[in-house]
Amino acid sequence: MKIAIYPGSFDPVTSGHLNIIQRAANIFDRLIVCVMVNASKSPMFSLEERVALIKRVTADLPNVEVDSSNELLAEYAKRKGSCVIVKGLRAGSDFENEFQMALINRQINPDLDTMFLTAEHQYTYLSSSTVKELGRYEVDLSAFLPEAIIPDFQERMNSNLQGGK
Ligand code: ADP
Repeated sequence: MKIAIYPGSFDPVTSGHLNIIQRAANIFDRLIVCVMVNASKSPMFSLEERVALIKRVTADLPNVEVDSSNELLAEYAKRKGSCVIVKGLRAGSDFENEFQMALINRQINPDLDTMFLTAEHQYTYLSSSTVKELGRYEVDLSAFLPEAIIPDFQERMNSNLQGGK
């Protein structure tokens, strides 16, 4: 059974992430979407909330599982019996960083490969931080976020704005 891991911050999960999840779920027997703890970021949604939002938008994908971890990704993959990490590659910006991480992960765990899926053209410039920036204004977010999570996003955005964040 081929198990792949799709790691990220997913703060929150965007339509670009969901597109990668759907495509990877078609390729592998099982896909584990893993929300990784990143101490350097102060997230909009807690780890548990991000997991719940991803679970909601992937409920129709039976071979997708959602998890969270604060382990080293290479160790996490080994523990889960996975030999492939899936990454989405957007225009320009992702390449250097992702290339470096793929090499480091392979050095730590030589059985681990990283597979890149190119972002769909309409999501090439989409990131969670862009959505958070747009969310400050009255912009229709349906092209950027899965419909099912837009109310959660707007509610959190409004309470953050009211709290001066
Ligand atoms: P970001 O906060 O930049 O959106 P994440 O850490 O949540 O990024 O992203 C997790 C993974 O998803 C990374 O491999 C990233 O390159 C990929 N990704 C993010 N946005 C997109 C997108 N719009 N299209 C394809 N892949 C994406």
